[in-house]
Amino acid sequence: MRIKEIQTYILKVPLGEKRFFSSQCAFPERNSLLVKILTDEGIYGWGEGGQYGPAEPVQIAIEKVLTPLLIGKDPLDKEILWHQMYNHTRDFGQKGTYIEAISAIDIALWDICGKALNVSVSKLMGGRQRDAVDMYATGCYYRGDQYLDLGKTLDALEKEAASYVDLGFKMIKIKLGLLSVEQDAKRVEAIRKTVGEDIGILADCNHAYNAYTAIRMGRVLEANRVLFMEEPVLPEDIEGYRRVRGKLDIAIAAGECEFTLYGFKRLISEGCIDIAQPDICCTGGLSEYLRIRTFAQAHTTAVIPHAWGSGIALAVALQALASTPLEPHTANPVMFQNEPMIEYDRNFNPLRDELLIHNIGIENGKVKVPDGPGLGVDVDMDILKKYI
Ligand SMILES: [Mg+2]
Repeated sequence: MRIKEIQTYILKVPLGEKRFFSSQCAFPERNSLLVKILTDEGIYGWGEGGQYGPAEPVQIAIEKVLTPLLIGKDPLDKEILWHQMYNHTRDFGQKGTYIEAISAIDIALWDICGKALNVSVSKLMGGRQRDAVDMYATGCYYRGDQYLDLGKTLDALEKEAASYVDLGFKMIKIKLGLLSVEQDAKRVEAIRKTVGEDIGILADCNHAYNAYTAIRMGRVLEANRVLFMEEPVLPEDIEGYRRVRGKLDIAIAAGECEFTLYGFKRLISEGCIDIAQPDICCTGGLSEYLRIRTFAQAHTTAVIPHAWGSGIALAVALQALASTPLEPHTANPVMFQNEPMIEYDRNFNPLRDELLIHNIGIENGKVKVPDGPGLGVDVDMDILKKYI
């Protein structure tokens, strides 16, 4: 089998009134870069990358730099091709755009391999340990201009958190860091009061703080029985991570802004994190995710992939989690229940909820892993055309 053609699609959905904010930026739209690799035998594979920031640079990296390396090659040689792409771009692309481009291509190659062998990607990754994956809701962002009025914010937050409990979520991740520690503390307390003690709360700061402020915020989280603190400090601030983790008892999670095994080697071996959160569509694809997962296991660091993007990205994370062995109780038995978890963003996202021919749904409080060969999903081209 040979690679015949590589197509790229940039999808965008303006959010209008539904826009939301993290501590770092506004989200005025949903965007996604999809890759379709076609072979001379009619088998094709889908991949996704370029979810952070504009997708156009990633598209150019794929079209101008990586595609010429791949045309005519055997797609089943995905490991060989990964290293060829990485070696070709190493001098200028160890993080960011080029790694996201490699991620998208690598995922499409895994999809092709699965289809060629008539097995799922999770089977290719060593076997399917589960057919459905526990999930946590990501929500409780800063919305509209509500954050200017803490009273309205608290009211809306309580309703939002309660709605996730009603949907069957046992774990909710909330956003922090846009307001002062004192104001954000009120948000955490309000959510804890609303959901009670049986629901797990996780907190994502999107690297809002310096180490000193992160420690102050961390103590608020500990007082509210929050289970992990995500990205307390800047991704570059290795010293800060170590200081925060050394001072706090709460588990520290990070990795969505980190790339490749080399990046996670530093985060894990330098004692920065308890939970690694590689985004498979950004960190180097499924091939690199497997290497990161193995490295993390050797350091008893849990891995909960960051999941963002379209239905393709969700299928990728599900396939990876289906093959993940049971995790040790790294942070809290209630949190992991010895089972890995998938991040399930609750914001409006038609690219995730409408794009596939068979969209992925929730069943009995879990997300079902698609079966069928490869990623087990296919894109509805009519829907895709709506968003390009
Ligand atoms: Mg995050």
